Amino acid sequence: MSWENNVRKVVPYVAGEQPQNKNVIKLNTNECPYPPAPGVEAVLHHFDYDVLRKYPDPDVSALRNILAKRYQVEPEQVFVGVGSDDVLAMSFLTFFNSDKPVLFPDITYSFYDVWADLYRIPYECQPLDENFEIKKEDYLKENGGLVIANPNAPTGIAVPVSMIEEIIQANQDVVVIVDEAYVDFGGESCIPLVEKYENLLVVQTFSKSRSMAGMRIGFAIGSKKLIRFLNDAKFSFNSYTMNVTAITAGVASVEDEAYFQDTVAKVVATREWTKKELARLGFTFPDSKTNFVFAAHKSIPGQEIFEMLREKNIFVRHWNKPRIENYIRISIGTDEEMKQMISVLEQYIKERN
Ligand code: PMP
Repeated sequence: MSWENNVRKVVPYVAGEQPQNKNVIKLNTNECPYPPAPGVEAVLHHFDYDVLRKYPDPDVSALRNILAKRYQVEPEQVFVGVGSDDVLAMSFLTFFNSDKPVLFPDITYSFYDVWADLYRIPYECQPLDENFEIKKEDYLKENGGLVIANPNAPTGIAVPVSMIEEIIQANQDVVVIVDEAYVDFGGESCIPLVEKYENLLVVQTFSKSRSMAGMRIGFAIGSKKLIRFLNDAKFSFNSYTMNVTAITAGVASVEDEAYFQDTVAKVVATREWTKKELARLGFTFPDSKTNFVFAAHKSIPGQEIFEMLREKNIFVRHWNKPRIENYIRISIGTDEEMKQMISVLEQYIKERN
């Protein structure tokens, strides 16, 4: 008998590369190419270091209050965590304690199965159809909970809230998590449905549309009861997840709605330009409502394009997984970055043929 028999063994999630070399065009982890709201810089610039002596507010009230106002819910309906990864991990722990399998698509955010394995939650992946669309019927069978990313990643496809509502309606005896990490770029949010369904948890993040991936802020909105359960688990784990810098900077970000809208509009405009250019070069892709495009070329394998771009210091994401090995996921950068990427692709395709 070895001590190793008692180790919880896990196969960890593999995050996208974070190259330390600044000389790259980084389009591989869906960050926003624009800085956070100017108010965030002001807060950090004038930060009163003395507050670091004390523990932060364990209830994260300042941020919960302003998010509640922004999303027209009560502060008791908001939970905040260290990025939506933390919120999702805590939600899996709290809500998925059934012997029946939790259901999510076969092609989706690849952290879901990692958390399920970590917590020993049974799960079953439901295959997306040939167009990478969700088949509603797959989520109408018996289950221990549901996780749906809408828009989905890495496909970029958004489904209408009416379809999610039909799924929730048929699943009121389990918790349904809707991961809306990318919703601000053109999806429709399920937040209005939390009034109607006590078992619905909607999760969002500051990492994409609010340009604050490095600050690690995510949040969930749901019924007061659901949020109470989530807080009970959090306070049994670590009371002080959110540091005071993140709380203050997060508030400053939400205060500037105009900057937020403007940033999102810029990313969306660049995405639409990128789609046209990719189509011109012979790529096909599902219609993205996110800050990335999931594209496959009609004749060049995904792996080859991924490696070629990397050689040229352009980082995109590629998975060596069945059904998607021919695709690359390209995050939307600035206009200039996308122009450079398109020109590198164009040149390569021309010379290869
Ligand atoms: N959900 C989805 C679908 C994502 O793609 C990501 C980004 N990797 C996350 C959640 C987590 O993002 P964060 O922890 O930065 O909020």
